[in-house]
Amino acid sequence: MNARQLLEQTRTRMLADFPLYGVQAMHLELVEKESVGTASTDGKHLFYNSGFIVSLSRPERIFLVAHAVMHVMLKHHLRRNGRDIDDWNEAGDYSINWILYNQRVGTMPTGGLLGGSYTDAAEVNYSRLHYNKQEQNEPGDGGQEQSGGDSGSGEGKKSEQQQNAKRYGSCGGVMDSAEPDPAKAEAEVQANLMEAVQIATKAGKMPGGMERVIKELVAPEADCWDLISEWVSDTCDTDRSYARISNRSTDEYLLPGDYSDDELGTLVAFIDTSGSINSAALKKFAAKLNGLRQLYEFNCYVGYCDTRVGRVDYFGRDEEIVFRPVGGGGTRFTPAFDYVDKEISEDIAGFIYFTDLCCSDFPSMAPRYPVLWAVTGGRNKVPFGDVVNIK
Ligand SMILES: [Zn+2]
Repeated sequence: MNARQLLEQTRTRMLADFPLYGVQAMHLELVEKESVGTASTDGKHLFYNSGFIVSLSRPERIFLVAHAVMHVMLKHHLRRNGRDIDDWNEAGDYSINWILYNQRVGTMPTGGLLGGSYTDAAEVNYSRLHYNKQEQNEPGDGGQEQSGGDSGSGEGKKSEQQQNAKRYGSCGGVMDSAEPDPAKAEAEVQANLMEAVQIATKAGKMPGGMERVIKELVAPEADCWDLISEWVSDTCDTDRSYARISNRSTDEYLLPGDYSDDELGTLVAFIDTSGSINSAALKKFAAKLNGLRQLYEFNCYVGYCDTRVGRVDYFGRDEEIVFRPVGGGGTRFTPAFDYVDKEISEDIAGFIYFTDLCCSDFPSMAPRYPVLWAVTGGRNKVPFGDVVNIK
């Protein structure tokens, strides 16, 4: 059998034995490409070096295909973000192989990267790898080896193959997605994963320990935005929180239906326009606020503040909330809270500040209304209020 036939046979076998991986593998187009050295995927294709595929045993081919599927399933082709491609492959391999090894999916080909302290997500492994490499004062992989003899055409081909074999490793590697629309690529991964989960579950062949991994994969980004809605429900919707407490304490004089849980009052959203907030995140924030309108009726003030309040728009309960940012450098938070104190006379159900928190100018006292800091960039130190980290 040639390499292609062997890979086709492997996938078919996996449909029965490891459907979570087999089903997703069916979506990868098999493409012979000798220059990859071993094998590699960009999320759409599984490129392979036929000599390498033929050299593997049957269980090793199963591992290889599952490995490629996991690069895609974990979106390694979409998450590199400019990191070094060799180290990114290494970091991803550690996280994948650890999972596959523990699930006993086939046999890891010789030379596969496994274990040590690198059993986390690729990003975490990557930071550790880099830190350890710096500690050992080792130059990054590839740098030295690229210098030798890749000028002659035959020689060059061979050395490219060798370099790629090293880059992609004996379990197969990952390259960046060629799909120009990352949202589309991500949606495809998600759809294929959901299909595979469904089939594997139905067959009673979901590998143990995958639930947590898959839960994180299915909606990692949606979560942080959902937390904003949850915060509004839990914190700003006083009727609902009161109803919940009174239910718990068997308080009898508030009957279901006595309270309206779709009336919030007034929400204030301030946006830190110091320049570090990206427009994609802002769009999502606006969409989230408008989405809340399906759950609640509320008026909304939207303000823009750098070191001073540049603009504040008011949106009645039927008006679509639209962001019109003004401002630029520098960040202060106090002017926004001062503005609310001086200019807004209604009771405020909640105040959401969208910021990267790169500033320590907070009001000295917590305001009388609840505050949520929707934070990009990972900071979380605030003197009052709640924090949701936006990824
Ligand atoms: Zn790999």
